[in-house]
Amino acid sequence: MTIVTTTAAAPREVHVDGPDVAGARIAVTGAAGFLGSHLCEHLVRAGADVVGFDDLSTGHVTNLAAIADHRAFEFRHQDVIMPCRIRGGLDAVMHLASPAAPGDYLARPVATLRAGSIGTLNMAEVAQAKDALLVLASTSEVYGDPLEHPQRESYLGNVSPIGPRSVYDEAKRFAEAVAAAYARLGTRTAIARIFNTYGPRMSSGDSRVVPTFLRQACAGQPLTVAGDGSQTRSLCYVDDTVQALTRLMASGYAGPVNIGGTAEVSVLYLAELIKHLCGSVASIEFVALPADDPRRRCPDISLAARKLGWRPKVSLADGLARTLAWYRGQVDISVGARR
Ligand code: NAD
Repeated sequence: MTIVTTTAAAPREVHVDGPDVAGARIAVTGAAGFLGSHLCEHLVRAGADVVGFDDLSTGHVTNLAAIADHRAFEFRHQDVIMPCRIRGGLDAVMHLASPAAPGDYLARPVATLRAGSIGTLNMAEVAQAKDALLVLASTSEVYGDPLEHPQRESYLGNVSPIGPRSVYDEAKRFAEAVAAAYARLGTRTAIARIFNTYGPRMSSGDSRVVPTFLRQACAGQPLTVAGDGSQTRSLCYVDDTVQALTRLMASGYAGPVNIGGTAEVSVLYLAELIKHLCGSVASIEFVALPADDPRRRCPDISLAARKLGWRPKVSLADGLARTLAWYRGQVDISVGARR
């Protein structure tokens, strides 16, 4: 199915430079999500043919508006736990389909386990059958609540197999095991351990820290900080993450490789910064810390620098300003639509 949109969205400024993918045919799962839609858009604009799969459980076709009518893009509304049939050759399968925000995976625990397990097995089958590269979007959550800091790829993690977040963490750990097993059987695979990425198109209901604070600050509501806010996150702007994923695809390196920002900030600092950027005078409200919430999160990205020649370029202040500009545009549009 090719998506038809009623609005011909203006091409977005492309901030991502990366390897030459012109002429490649690439399947992207989770295509209508936050990260997947930016990735598809980048690949199409760089000259690749892209087949995007998504069950639209947390993603939106509107995220794909800029490329929906492009002849090099095809969209399939499909759950990846169902067998995927793709006609013709394929160079790579970039497997991003999974609930990713805590609010989403806690609300869909079994679907999350299925996407990471059955979905990844299905995508590995496709890659094997097509002699294509499987790129797995794994996560820093495979490190759980890390006891080692910053986290290197050699760290095996501190994950509760039965805690509420285990549906996501363990699904991704299983997905990595799938990629590793298919690699041993001769399929080319690459594992990206993505740390917190933010930017335009994080959905308005997204429970992750940046969209939550932006939503609250723009609405003049108190910003809800979990615990005392001293827990840290290292944020990476979406264009930088997309560039890292495409470099990984082209590198021939199997990973796992950390992809993330190294500017580690406390959640309280982030709340204050977003409040300041939004010009909000609302208070900060401290709420209970969720179970399994990681205390510290910061990647060691020296491997990505060495193997992919990659480091994030967009500063936190710049990335947040771009995200805020997009978010304000969305709010204006939705207010306009109600008139
Ligand atoms: P998102 O929720 O915006 O996108 C996920 C997409 O996958 C959605 O469009 C959803 O509809 C789709 N999806 C979910 N289950 C599916 C299924 N069974 N079949 C088909 N489609 C399905 O989240 P995101 O932030 O864009 O994350 C994309 C990927 O990157 C995920 O695999 C996530 O684990 C990984 N990741 C993201 C981050 C981040 O900070 N954004 C960090 C680490 C890892």
